[in-house]
Amino acid sequence: TQFTSPPLDSHLLTNIEFARYTTPTPVQKYSIPIVGNGRDLMACAQTGSGKTGGFLFPVLSELFLKGPMEIPAEDPSRGYRSRKAYPSVLILAPTRELVSQIFEEAKKFAYRSWVRPAVAYGGADIGSQLRQIERGCDLLVATPGRLVDLIERARISLANIRYLVLDEADRMLDMGFEPQIRRIVEKEDMPDVEERVTLMFSATFPRDIQYLARDFLKDYVFLSV
Ligand code: AMP
Repeated sequence: TQFTSPPLDSHLLTNIEFARYTTPTPVQKYSIPIVGNGRDLMACAQTGSGKTGGFLFPVLSELFLKGPMEIPAEDPSRGYRSRKAYPSVLILAPTRELVSQIFEEAKKFAYRSWVRPAVAYGGADIGSQLRQIERGCDLLVATPGRLVDLIERARISLANIRYLVLDEADRMLDMGFEPQIRRIVEKEDMPDVEERVTLMFSATFPRDIQYLARDFLKDYVFLSV
């Protein structure tokens, strides 16, 4: 496939072939080397541009290459037989529909790997989402409100996050999620901006999105497709 330069993890390439994707879309073509080099990214891209692959491909490739992270044994909130999840990747998106779509893509491309995707959104039974999270949650796709709820219930720790993705950031702000997003990103166990890779996707780049980028990203690459 044309996904071979720069190289992606070979297992991921198998899954990409399985999905019958042969050519990266422009946002994928540019995001793969940027994220592969460990840079933060602010991407202006519309729905339909292939932006989901634009963040899933480089993130999953890096995870597959690096392998799972140890759960921090020193975490004081981790009790005996803790059922807390320690995702390596957190993807925030505005709606149930969008998080479900991203989750389906994540399952497709994480197929037969150690990475177990999980999903959480509001307006649905939290019990079944909690049971799924307990079965494995290396990559969590969530709406901001439901994630705040899960964090307050001490079921999710952010201590292992290596990749933070904000998808459709402009829509999340339009929907009034800024306080929840700030609470999540500024939580004390979230690795700080130097210790994580942060990717933000937005269709538009108005002043309030520029402020979020300034506050959450470091020395980022700006991409507009
Ligand atoms: P997105 O913008 O991420 O919502 O993707 C839009 C649609 O394009 C989805 O149905 C994807 O499955 C599809 N898609 C994304 N990337 C590729 C690709 N490289 N080749 C073919 N289809 C793709």
